[in-house]
Amino acid sequence: IIITNTNLSTGTETSGRADNRAFDELRKMKIEAGVLERADGSAYLEIGGNKVLAAVYGPRELFVRRLMQPNKAVLRCKYNMAPFSVDDRKRPGPDRRSVEISKLASQALTPAVFLEKFPRSTIDVFIEVIEAEGGTRCAGITAASVALADAGIPMRDMVVACAAGKSDGKVILDLSEVEDKEGQADVPIAIMPRTGEITLLQMDGNLTEEEFEQALDLAINGCKIISEKQKAAIKNRYGDE
Ligand code: UDP
Repeated sequence: IIITNTNLSTGTETSGRADNRAFDELRKMKIEAGVLERADGSAYLEIGGNKVLAAVYGPRELFVRRLMQPNKAVLRCKYNMAPFSVDDRKRPGPDRRSVEISKLASQALTPAVFLEKFPRSTIDVFIEVIEAEGGTRCAGITAASVALADAGIPMRDMVVACAAGKSDGKVILDLSEVEDKEGQADVPIAIMPRTGEITLLQMDGNLTEEEFEQALDLAINGCKIISEKQKAAIKNRYGDE
């Protein structure tokens, strides 16, 4: 994988994207840490039309014996979309998609956490999508990492997630809902930016090998930009203390 360190384009050239973004431009975003009182750690994230809350509880005792690990904690994730988060009302409760995203979010975050420090415990991560506009799994994972850091949970790195894909025949960064739905491919990834280790890699649709490499490079660069916003969110919360 060739990781290019190109900065974002200025967006001055016409990209043909619905919102006029350059092919390698993220949607506008913001991240705030520590937005909930009762959670041990929390974060609020907006990217484009996505609004996502993440809450972390724990490490705390795990009472479900079949899940308990004698030598480490388990990290459980629950991803949920609010019924009002999409144009068509989303039927409340878990469905196949939310169960899948919960599982992969847990898998994406787990390698970053020093779970062995908390035997027989659980760390519970809740991802609540308040409004969705494409890319909620990535937004959720990114917010959840900030919430884990906000909870003071020891981590190797803050996992960060971002997608690239192909829409209208072009390989582009951070697909919006329209670009995702009308597009040819979506490649969400999560990485630990310090080492570049990939903790999530999915692909929906079709890409040539070359397009896949391009999409991966774009997504990795997107992750690096978002990673700085994660760090800024934590610094904003704790910087003055
Ligand atoms: N979406 C929707 N209804 C649903 C699930 C998804 O309208 O029940 C929309 C939502 O905007 C979401 C997008 O479709 O962000 C793409 O969904 P996908 O399953 O690809 O996951 P995501 O891109 O959100 O991680």
